[in-house]
Amino acid sequence: MNEYDVVVIGAGPAGSSTAYFAARSGLKVLMVDQRNAIGEPVQCGEFIPSTKEMERIIPRVKNQKELFDIDDSLIKMRTNKIKFISPKDREYEMDFEGFTVDRRYFDKYLAKKATDAGAELMIGTKYLSLKDNVIKLDKGEVKAKVIVGADGFKSNVAKDAGMEVNHVLCPCMLGQVDGDFEPTVEMFFGTVAPGGYAWVIPKEGGANVGLGIQKTGNVSLRNMLNDFLKMRKLGKIHDLSAGFVPISGPIPQTVKGNVMIVGDAAGQVMATNGGGIPISMICGRIAGNVISEYFKNKVPLTKYEEEWRANVGTELENALDTKRMADKAFKRNFTLELAMKLMGSKRMERAINCKPIFKK
Ligand SMILES: Cc1cc2nc3c(=O)[nH]c(=O)nc-3n(C[C@H](O)[C@H](O)[C@H](O)COP(=O)(O)OP(=O)(O)OC[C@H]3O[C@@H](n4cnc5c(N)ncnc54)[C@H](O)[C@@H]3O)c2cc1C
Repeated sequence: MNEYDVVVIGAGPAGSSTAYFAARSGLKVLMVDQRNAIGEPVQCGEFIPSTKEMERIIPRVKNQKELFDIDDSLIKMRTNKIKFISPKDREYEMDFEGFTVDRRYFDKYLAKKATDAGAELMIGTKYLSLKDNVIKLDKGEVKAKVIVGADGFKSNVAKDAGMEVNHVLCPCMLGQVDGDFEPTVEMFFGTVAPGGYAWVIPKEGGANVGLGIQKTGNVSLRNMLNDFLKMRKLGKIHDLSAGFVPISGPIPQTVKGNVMIVGDAAGQVMATNGGGIPISMICGRIAGNVISEYFKNKVPLTKYEEEWRANVGTELENALDTKRMADKAFKRNFTLELAMKLMGSKRMERAINCKPIFKK
């Protein structure tokens, strides 16, 4: 049986970042992903705030350039505004710099960084279960001193290690449309996407268009998306896919014994807008660095839990508070329209920046 210092389950932004920082320090790292092609299908809006915005949103995280200053060839469009559109089509605009990526290439780039640093990658390989240090994959068993669950919103690794998993998920559907779009991210609220929002995120030669909702019962996301496309005259959609965003906030425990949980698996997502790429990369870096200190200097793995909460915990909590408040207003178009009017662009900006809407 092959033995590793670290086995990372999942080669999304969280897993690849963890694997990169662990492998960089010379550890024997294996990364496993069930997908045959990393990053495909795209189940994401593909929007990332600029490094400058990230430094403003989460100022305690040092050297963010190391994570987010990526090669220009990976950037599909730079955007400079976010617009919120109310049920009655009232627009609230704010300056906000960001860029779109194509996750098919972005995720492969992150995985390659990890393999270039020495990590092994097994694709088309499914994690099945975990017992002590032995990980059962559909292609055999491997042994690891440290196991990282970066396996997304329904983390089987967290479950198998006896940790709590995300308990509220927001179902989404999305795809790509062709055309020319202004460099503005648009978010539409109201019955168009009950309890969530619909988005148009511009990319070179087109846009990523989708919606996420909070509604139970018999609803068809496909019909809602079709209605949205028609209403906004967005034309035909292609490369349709679906996914879930965990919106219940971070799970209470992310380290247990020699198992660590990172990224969506740990609920490390901004609950207000579903943004998780940068947070999962930040937490992946912390995880990878703590793992390397664990092997070098016997630093306990629980340092990861302490560090990521100290770095991004407040902002994730603020986002969760805002979401809870918004959920009350989201119930009807009438109350939502009113709440958006009362909030105005300034408070919406605070929400996007993960600050408390009402200053403490
Ligand atoms: C519709 C939608 C739109 C979004 N839009 C944005 C956005 O615009 N900006 C943003 O910042 N965030 C966005 N997000 C959130 C973002 O996609 C996630 O937060 C981010 O991908 C988290 O990275 P991760 O590595 O934790 O998980 P993932 O990217 O989900 O990666 C998990 C990996 O684990 C693998 N895996 C799972 N189970 C197993 C198994 N049993 N065995 C082997 N491998 C396994 C999967 O194949 C996958 O590759 C969006 C999410 C959705 C669903």
